[in-house]
Amino acid sequence: MEKQEQFAARLIGWYEKGHRDLPWRSAATAYEIWISEIMLQQTRAETVIPYYRRFLRLFPDVRSLAESRETDLLKAWEGLGYYSRARNLRRAAGIIMDEYGGQLPASVEKLRSLPGIGDYTAGAIASIAFGIPAPAVDGNFERVYCRFFGIEEEMDAGARRRLSQTAEGLVPKDRPGVFANAMMELGATICLPRSPKCAECPLCGSCRGRQRGDPEALPRKPEKKGQRVEQRCQMLVFGPEGVLVCQRQERLLQGLYVFPDKEGELTPEEMCAALEEAGISAAYEQMLGAARHVFTHIIWEMKIHALRLLAPVPAPEGAMWADAGALSALPMPTAVRAAKQLAIRRMGRG
Ligand code: SF4
Repeated sequence: MEKQEQFAARLIGWYEKGHRDLPWRSAATAYEIWISEIMLQQTRAETVIPYYRRFLRLFPDVRSLAESRETDLLKAWEGLGYYSRARNLRRAAGIIMDEYGGQLPASVEKLRSLPGIGDYTAGAIASIAFGIPAPAVDGNFERVYCRFFGIEEEMDAGARRRLSQTAEGLVPKDRPGVFANAMMELGATICLPRSPKCAECPLCGSCRGRQRGDPEALPRKPEKKGQRVEQRCQMLVFGPEGVLVCQRQERLLQGLYVFPDKEGELTPEEMCAALEEAGISAAYEQMLGAARHVFTHIIWEMKIHALRLLAPVPAPEGAMWADAGALSALPMPTAVRAAKQLAIRRMGRG
């Protein structure tokens, strides 16, 4: 629970220190927030801004939208794509006029029943426009949450439902709207899908994904059929001149550097024996982390271990000892990025 409170407090503190100046952030009305949330579905904020401004000039309130001609509406939407969003807006505006006196209802369930409004959008409007502590779980939320709490579960439909329930407990009762905006902001600007900017992140100190060394592996997508899962053991051998890396010769990874690795889950004794075969005497130290990489037809589930070189030896043919600087500069496949980061971090500590 303590970690959950910390999570919300840090996030809000960071958001309030400064964030992107998006026009719907200063929006005063529920109508404007609704329009922005519908436009932002499947569409980037930078693309939405000019559409949002023009739309509000043409249709400044629920009534003008409900009474609009479909051709005018679609013209205003031209270029934004997913035109059913515009049609649903107009239908919903008609219902809001007929059933709610022209005001968006301040209720998650009632918002959810309007055309074009799903769980996420209902949660976002309810929290931002009405201060209702409802979760707004979209891809940004899912990514930040799974990384911060180190959720390893595959994000299928069932896992998403459970996440929505858990998310309710995360939303601070007194500041649900700021929290929703802060989650969106962090997911869109810092905790990016492929290359999260962890060093700039307010959650960095307690983030499990960051501690594991491979935050970009989370959230886990459901496995595609036909993919084989292979366990692999990555061995980081640290000596006085750095960590041992070997250059791959086979076609797939030709020219790239990797750490010594073996298929399977090896015991410490098996790792030492495998290294001995290559002329390296090492003692096992500890497991540093785990990582996962999805290739097209195969998934590597890797355990990353640290070993200490017992007697300094020249690197075997095709291999080298790399210190933190050299390692950062070497071309290495994405699959070993987590191991590389763990090695750099460890050598950085000396
Ligand atoms: S520390 Fe990195 S992975 Fe964790 S939440 Fe922040 S940006 Fe995302």
